[in-house]
Amino acid sequence: MAKKVLKFGGTSVGTIERIQHVARIVKKEYEAGNQIITVVSAMSGKTNELINLSREISKNFSKRELDVLLSSGEQVTSSLLAGALIEMNIKAKTFLNWQIPILTEGDHNNSRIINSSTEKINKFLDQGVVVIPGFQGISKNGDITTIGRGGSDATAVAMAKIFNADSCEIYTDVDGVFSTDPNKIPVAKKIDQISYDEMLELSSLGAKVMQPSAVQTAMMYDVPLEVKSTFTERKGTKIFNQE
Ligand code: ADP
Ligand code: ASP
Ligand code: MG
Repeated sequence: MAKKVLKFGGTSVGTIERIQHVARIVKKEYEAGNQIITVVSAMSGKTNELINLSREISKNFSKRELDVLLSSGEQVTSSLLAGALIEMNIKAKTFLNWQIPILTEGDHNNSRIINSSTEKINKFLDQGVVVIPGFQGISKNGDITTIGRGGSDATAVAMAKIFNADSCEIYTDVDGVFSTDPNKIPVAKKIDQISYDEMLELSSLGAKVMQPSAVQTAMMYDVPLEVKSTFTERKGTKIFNQE
């Protein structure tokens, strides 16, 4: 039995059919005897849509209120995924960040996760699948915060570290990390394994397949990562310390 963090990005949960597909992946992992913490992004395009709505209200929309607004995207997909699992007779539960709580520090719209309580989740892990909305947390004042664009990757890494998971699997819409963006350069080559340093360089240069600060945290705490496709069974890319 392994403890696994499985993170699904925006395209992977972009429609009801895709959420049902993700639920089948999670079900398979759970029924293989693993303990599963699932982290989800908002449906693709949702976060931008919400930002645009806030701009219709004000060019200087309150940063605190923006965090309230943006955090809703991941809450929608969490409950839909948990609901899809329950429909497949798998016990599943969404834990919103304030319920856990996942604590953050820093400015609104750009906070970072500093800690998380483990008690409630560890208790439920023996009974069913845990679903957590990515990209958000709670400040020490009790305000909802978000942790930067692409931040669900950082939520997954933080959870893997805090819960001492055996693996942290980043499911996305490409087969893994490529030499360059495979959606722009079709001859880009998939990389089987890559060091944290090299991955950090790629993501800092714009390879948004992994959020740079998530890679940084993984490197700091030596959390091995695997980036793979939600839609194919191909082998992904392993990211780890290669010294
Ligand atoms: P998710 O919603 O799953 O978090 P993202 O859109 O954040 O996915 O990241 C995946 C996208 O990153 C791919 O669709 C791809 O276009 C882009 N990308 C850019 N550079 C790379 C790269 N070097 N390797 C893989 N994907 C890349
Ligand atoms: N939904 C957020 C974003 O679009 C976080 C994420 O997808 O990782 O930036
Ligand atoms: Mg992403």
